[in-house]
Amino acid sequence: MSAVIEQTIETYGIDNWGAGYFGVNRKGNLIVRASENDNNSADVREIIEDLKKRGISPPVLLRFPQLLVGQIRKLQTAFRKSIKEFEYNGSHMCVFPMKVNQNRAVIEEYLREGTRYHFGLEAGSKAELYAGLAMEQSGESLLVLNGFKDKEFIELAFTGAQAGKNVVIVIEKLSELEHTLKIAEQLTAEKSQAKLPMIGVRVKLYSKGSGKWEKSGGEAAKFGLTTTEILEVIRRLQEAGRTDMLKLLHFHIGSQLTDIKRIKNAMKEAARTYAKIVKMQIPIQFLDVGGGMAVDYDGSRTSFESSANYNAREFANDVIYVIKTVCDDENVPHPTIIQESGRYLSAYHAMLVTNVQDEIETVVEDIAPITIEIDDPQVVKELYDLRETINVKNHREYYHDALEHREELFTMFNLGLITLEDKGKGEVLFWDVCEKADEYAQQKKYVSEEFDELRRLLSTKYLANFSVFRSMPDNWALEQLFPIIPIHRLNKKPTEYATLCDITCDSDGIVEKFVDLHDVKPVLELHKLIAGEPYYLAMLLVGAYQEVMGNNHNLFGVPHEAHIHIGEDGHIIKKVIQGATLGDSLATVRFDATQLHDQFRKIVQQRIKDGDLSSKDGHQLIEFYENQIDAYTYLSPNGS
Ligand SMILES: *Cc1c(COP(=O)(O)O)cnc(C)c1O
Repeated sequence: MSAVIEQTIETYGIDNWGAGYFGVNRKGNLIVRASENDNNSADVREIIEDLKKRGISPPVLLRFPQLLVGQIRKLQTAFRKSIKEFEYNGSHMCVFPMKVNQNRAVIEEYLREGTRYHFGLEAGSKAELYAGLAMEQSGESLLVLNGFKDKEFIELAFTGAQAGKNVVIVIEKLSELEHTLKIAEQLTAEKSQAKLPMIGVRVKLYSKGSGKWEKSGGEAAKFGLTTTEILEVIRRLQEAGRTDMLKLLHFHIGSQLTDIKRIKNAMKEAARTYAKIVKMQIPIQFLDVGGGMAVDYDGSRTSFESSANYNAREFANDVIYVIKTVCDDENVPHPTIIQESGRYLSAYHAMLVTNVQDEIETVVEDIAPITIEIDDPQVVKELYDLRETINVKNHREYYHDALEHREELFTMFNLGLITLEDKGKGEVLFWDVCEKADEYAQQKKYVSEEFDELRRLLSTKYLANFSVFRSMPDNWALEQLFPIIPIHRLNKKPTEYATLCDITCDSDGIVEKFVDLHDVKPVLELHKLIAGEPYYLAMLLVGAYQEVMGNNHNLFGVPHEAHIHIGEDGHIIKKVIQGATLGDSLATVRFDATQLHDQFRKIVQQRIKDGDLSSKDGHQLIEFYENQIDAYTYLSPNGS
């Protein structure tokens, strides 16, 4: 591999966050592998070219189902090995939390692979449950129901059980238990052999997680029953003669748990609770440890919020070891461990590829060189001097001076003491000083934070053809980092420092935090745009939460989607799904195409009637307008 390619792999941290799935080929293009040791790969640039031939232009969401399978296998293998190593007597099964990504393609692929290990589903709403009920699952797998439930929800759960599924109603509130017991009573009175759902309880742990979702755990958490409430559930079950329905103890202390120590503590507390319930002669058998396994988005392997200080094997070891130790100590059998990991399984499989549409300049180049006249204001002269004499030794001091002079420049302008030309001259000189200061600062081993800010100010702003709100909402809402890299030209050194602006009319629609091994980068190294040539970026690891949390801001709809198989001869495009058209997006806010067309036609016809438009021109306008209803909501890439 060329030294430049090795360098770009390091610049973007591909080997740190890529989990072995991503790399760069000799052409300098981003590639995707089905697994770490797989020799087959797909060239993302080639995929985009192929899609273009089918009339699909960026932005496009690429789905690689094999990466979902890869993650399932990694997790299953990790637990299988830990179970063997620690001589654990129970087994491990997953239920996929549908809220992480309910797309049919994702659920179907997950079940296709997961069924081999009795992996099931987790639903948190009636709609998720409804879809889940119709999915083929292995006979041993579970269908776990979390979240607040009304009577209708619980009736659907009973329907699932009677259809043969292993449904678990996790009680979040005592009223849910009431409904459940009542329906069970009615049903068994009619049909004594009817298969009933199982009951689970979600325990509110004292232990908290870490990271952005710390609030999901601890005593003040939204979900879960206190010890007293759990005892009350058991008492009511005893009263109803239905303790045999209580099969599962559940906890979930949050998503993206960054710190393994916190996970261990929660595990200890939950295992102890489990053991105590067993000792009350309750035939409970599942311990559901929730989700929360983190994805190392920045590849730093730390407890930083976009990272994780453990891998799957370490996670599995800790879960198995802690549960075994506590159960042995309490002399109770080892439970079947249920895990609800969603982010970990689905994050890797999807990426959004889009083009850089343009550049937004901060510092205007190609203007005439500045000359200083005798009667220029003092402040302009001083900025000129700074620019001429700044060097590596004084750059910090001169940068500070320049900041002061700029303030002065604005004050004088506002007081009417200098002209517009003077102000313009001063601004150009100020930015020149900044550029030089930045150059000198970057030559130092240690670059202080004030120069990070300067670098951000000086950075090139690339206009990327996507909506942060639609495709990376967590970057906007939670400052969550996602790896972003060009899909080509990776055999050339990137020479620009850039931030990304999206195409929404929202000043929040920007990306100015990027993954870095030691810190968060304020700017991303990218290549200079070449006129007439497209420049494509991939935003990776967006397979968890982003698609379904993405919103309609500015009516940018769902992007095109392509499903890619990685085979011996590279990629195979298995499926293409068209993204939202103007009509689709408008329908979400209750605009009806026919009605819009009628109204527009009326407006134009009035103009024709008034003699302001010829009939021919008018009908051309109408035709054009009506055809645009099927246009893509995103920009057409330049040059196409
Ligand atoms: C959101 C959620 C999960 C999934 O969490 P991940 O961090 O995606 O693994 C699991 N269980 C429950 C109860 C949840 O609310």
